[in-house]
Amino acid sequence: MRYRLIYTLLTTAQELLFGKKLFFDWQLGDNWALKSMDKLDRELEAAEKDRKDVDVQQSNDSKKSEYVYRRQIVWFNTIGFLVLHLGAVYGLYLFLTSSMVLTMLWTLLVAGASAFSVTMGAHRLYTHRTFKCNDWVKALLVFGQTVAGQNCLYVWIRDHRQHHKYSDTVADPHNASRGFFFSHIGWLMVRKHPEVIAKGKNIDMTDIEMDPYAMFQKKYYKILFTILAMLMPMVVPFVLWGETLWNGFFVCFLFRLMAVLNLTWLVNSAAHLYGNKPFTNDIMPVENVYVSMFGLGEGWHNYHHSFPWDYRAAEFGQYFNLTTMVIDFFEEMGWVWDKKYATPAMVRSRVTKRGDGTHCKYSRPQSKENGEQSEPVPEDDSYEELFWLEERSAVTAERAAEAQKG
Ligand SMILES: [Zn+2]
Ligand SMILES: [Zn+2]
Repeated sequence: MRYRLIYTLLTTAQELLFGKKLFFDWQLGDNWALKSMDKLDRELEAAEKDRKDVDVQQSNDSKKSEYVYRRQIVWFNTIGFLVLHLGAVYGLYLFLTSSMVLTMLWTLLVAGASAFSVTMGAHRLYTHRTFKCNDWVKALLVFGQTVAGQNCLYVWIRDHRQHHKYSDTVADPHNASRGFFFSHIGWLMVRKHPEVIAKGKNIDMTDIEMDPYAMFQKKYYKILFTILAMLMPMVVPFVLWGETLWNGFFVCFLFRLMAVLNLTWLVNSAAHLYGNKPFTNDIMPVENVYVSMFGLGEGWHNYHHSFPWDYRAAEFGQYFNLTTMVIDFFEEMGWVWDKKYATPAMVRSRVTKRGDGTHCKYSRPQSKENGEQSEPVPEDDSYEELFWLEERSAVTAERAAEAQKG
């Protein structure tokens, strides 16, 4: 895996420098989108020739025009991201060498809270509707998501719903079959694939259009971003404990913003490439423990793509899954309710039908050898997770009974 990463970095560097592969070939996924410009030119010519040969009436009948996708780099974004990353690295240097202790704690607090707002708010609440919550929790999550600076909720949700609907195809905004770099950040540096634009128009967004918080944020996003994502994190340390604005800008704004962004992007890249697939073997998303550790529990991605409506985004709710812990805590406080989750029976059924055989308990039955039946799939649902869920539902039932009495 280490060599793969080095390889990816090398190929990416040469792609950016020369616009085509000179020394290294891509290994991850197919490389149709990364062919050299000469080859693309030749293909384009051939396609145009073919089109001329096709009967005119026939081409009028079929409105879908044939195209050869040509990767077009958007240099403004590319240079922009490069500058942002250089600034963030300088921010990390300042964070370690010259910022005050309170500023360090403040940066971690802002990073953590905004990251939770993305995983719990934008992802599990808004995109997948996995639980319900009261209005102030919703407002708080929209506030935090704005601080995270990952574009407005509307665009975030549309892209993510499209990602689930067309995972790892040309219509997926961050199609992981185009390799690590593309699915991580490259997708923001090139023109969208025509299929992404075409299919993006059909994503159902009616629930978001009826949500006053999300629509308010969409309407005033630029000004909200400037105030909440940029100025607020740098001004608070300046006013309250006399940190310099220079440190505030590079540490609390740039370094913090880019760190959270990269962690989020790892879910699109690493969690689609490196890991196992216990639940659904015929898709790209995988279970990645490292992404889960640093990504607040969003790395159990094979499970998440198998059961996107499960509020835990993982089979084992509290194992490297901080977001689930927070949602559970909010439920204990009575702020969150109606959580949806897959039962162990549903998980077992999926694992035995479509898993890759690496599930810790319900591995796929092997083919019979010498007439002998392989280990039978357990029929009980008695693993710890079930107790955990039962315990929780018992508490909820108790509460409901109490409320009725009262
Ligand atoms: Zn995914
Ligand atoms: Zn999702």
